[in-house]
Amino acid sequence: MAEKRDYYEVLEVTKEATVEEIKKAYRKKAIQYHPDKNPGDKEAEEKFKEAAEAYDVLSNPDKRARYDQFGHAGMSGAAGNGGPFGGFGGGMSMDDIFSMFGDIFGGHSGGGFGGGFGGFGGFGGGGSQQRKFRGSDLRVKVKLNLKEISTGVEKKFKLKKYVPCSHCHGTGAEGNGGSETCPTCKGSGSVIRNQQTILGTMQTRTTCPTCNGEGKIIKDKCKVCGGEGIEYGEEVVTVKIPAGVAEGMQLSMGGKGNAGKHNGIPGDLLILVEEEPHPELIRDENDLVYNLLLSFPTAAIGGAVEIPTIDGKVKVKIEAGTQPGKVLRLRGKGLPSVNGYGTGDLLVNVSVYVPETLSKDEKSTLEKLEESKNFKPSTSIKEKIFKKFRSLFD
Ligand SMILES: [Zn+2]
Ligand SMILES: [Zn+2]
Repeated sequence: MAEKRDYYEVLEVTKEATVEEIKKAYRKKAIQYHPDKNPGDKEAEEKFKEAAEAYDVLSNPDKRARYDQFGHAGMSGAAGNGGPFGGFGGGMSMDDIFSMFGDIFGGHSGGGFGGGFGGFGGFGGGGSQQRKFRGSDLRVKVKLNLKEISTGVEKKFKLKKYVPCSHCHGTGAEGNGGSETCPTCKGSGSVIRNQQTILGTMQTRTTCPTCNGEGKIIKDKCKVCGGEGIEYGEEVVTVKIPAGVAEGMQLSMGGKGNAGKHNGIPGDLLILVEEEPHPELIRDENDLVYNLLLSFPTAAIGGAVEIPTIDGKVKVKIEAGTQPGKVLRLRGKGLPSVNGYGTGDLLVNVSVYVPETLSKDEKSTLEKLEESKNFKPSTSIKEKIFKKFRSLFD
């Protein structure tokens, strides 16, 4: 699979470009590579689609933020359509692209094309391309623990969903009846209406009411699905969840949602990530935080303690005179970043346990120590600790 180009590069805009700038840049590209201007030119068609895809992402604040954060991995995934983030599924269809044009070329843009893009139909290789039904998206939730998030995990989902009808194989037709060209629109999928207005006769193009834009109608409807071509069924889908995902992230698998009527385009499967809290570790983006409660003697004398990590316990040396509030950093013991760049750390926040009950002996020992010079912070130590404390507020 060819390397995907950066969307900003495709539209030749900067990362800081405003929505208006992006719109303008896309309009330019769309005019340059429009299939009507480049008949039969496959490369121009690819460029046309590429620009549309870039615009679709960059013009949408949510998608743009996701793209800025994860790159293409957040959209369609390096693994292509099957990737866990398969935002575009099988790529944008020409219908999708033309349906964006109202926004781009309409209204106050004052630019470019006067009509000619009537949604779907009439495009591509001289043949007419009628509308295909699209199945709806399916949503599932997946609960993951930190261990699963640290390595990535494969999850199986048993989905109740619309699948192509097994009796008619999705066609909606009984036996070999097949379908015939829609008599109303003659197969174009749309009809032109003449409307009388004070400015004269206006022509508008709308979806054919007989065939809903498909351009054909079924002669003998399937007895099982009643001609819809879909039935309620079940599918087991395996989703590869990449390492480093976080609560609230949404993955999508193109084409794994509900089947579309009449062997149309299936919807997407959207997978919402939920994170199970860890009993001891707190997640802070890619870092993990652990609160270590040292005994007072260990903090003073030094020693070794066990720290929990995702992969089990590790031994950490505690230096003599370790102060509460000190943070130890265990490099690389955090979580991998979802875009594959680096791994976070495990931050160990030191706190010191002060005994809550004391025996008589313990009490008298401590009373003796109280008088000891080493147990009273000197002025310079006080200043040092205050400086550290103040830095928390910087
Ligand atoms: Zn059927
Ligand atoms: Zn029709």
